[in-house]
Amino acid sequence: MRIDVLTLFPEMFFNFLDASIVGRAVNSNIARINCIDIRDFSKDKHRRVDDYPFGGGPGMVMGPEPIYNAINSVKSEKSRIICLSPKGRTYNQEIANKLSLEEHIVLLCGHYEGIDNRVIENYIDDEISIGDYVLTGGEIAAMAVIDSIIRLLPGVLNNQESYMDESYFNGLLEYPHYTRPRIFNGIEVPEVLLSGNHEKINQWRKYQSLKITYERRPDLLANIELDKNEQKMLEDIIKKDSNCEKIKAKNKL
Ligand code: SAM
Repeated sequence: MRIDVLTLFPEMFFNFLDASIVGRAVNSNIARINCIDIRDFSKDKHRRVDDYPFGGGPGMVMGPEPIYNAINSVKSEKSRIICLSPKGRTYNQEIANKLSLEEHIVLLCGHYEGIDNRVIENYIDDEISIGDYVLTGGEIAAMAVIDSIIRLLPGVLNNQESYMDESYFNGLLEYPHYTRPRIFNGIEVPEVLLSGNHEKINQWRKYQSLKITYERRPDLLANIELDKNEQKMLEDIIKKDSNCEKIKAKNKL
């Protein structure tokens, strides 16, 4: 996969692209990630890329021409051009899964008050927000998108790091984890995890996964199909929950 990031602050990506799992994917050429400085496409002698907003108001707006030229410098018919924006559709695992199948992604990072809307309306395929809050620029949002995509590419995670059980991948939140010591400050790890019985451990984990999803994100349960065993577990969880009627009604369970 190839990813081009169009940004005013390429230096923000240097450590990010060299560390941990993203660094591994880049260094083993599974992902080719380039950061392109939008200022390189400015015709201004001071490399300016922003200007005052038409109609007045606070702040500065990134002008269309340098961005248009930056997009064209990397774009092909296989590219998916994405603008990071608080006005975009909210990013989630499903979008990450789909994007991980693309050949070439271009991530456009805004700054200041944002980007001239003619670019957004005419030269962008998608707008993505990483949540209902405003960041100073699109760079951190682009890193979140890159990180979530890269870990899905074949060969990036090894078996032990598999994403299959992780939160959201199968529509549920993940079960809790424990490691040594077995007793910490008098608190013991759940007995079943020490049993060596893998079937029992898998059942416990499935139950915990359903329980935590039911308690924290019951909305997710409406979007997945549970098998008979999982349905029985969920019924048991609901039966034990004194608050269940309220949650059931709210989420149409
Ligand atoms: N004036 C804009 C508004 O109110 O919608 C906010 C501009 S923000 C200060 C500057 C840039 O940060 C945006 O153009 C976008 O690229 C990025 N950004 C801010 N919040 C974001 C979010 N939640 N998700 C993705 N990108 C975001």
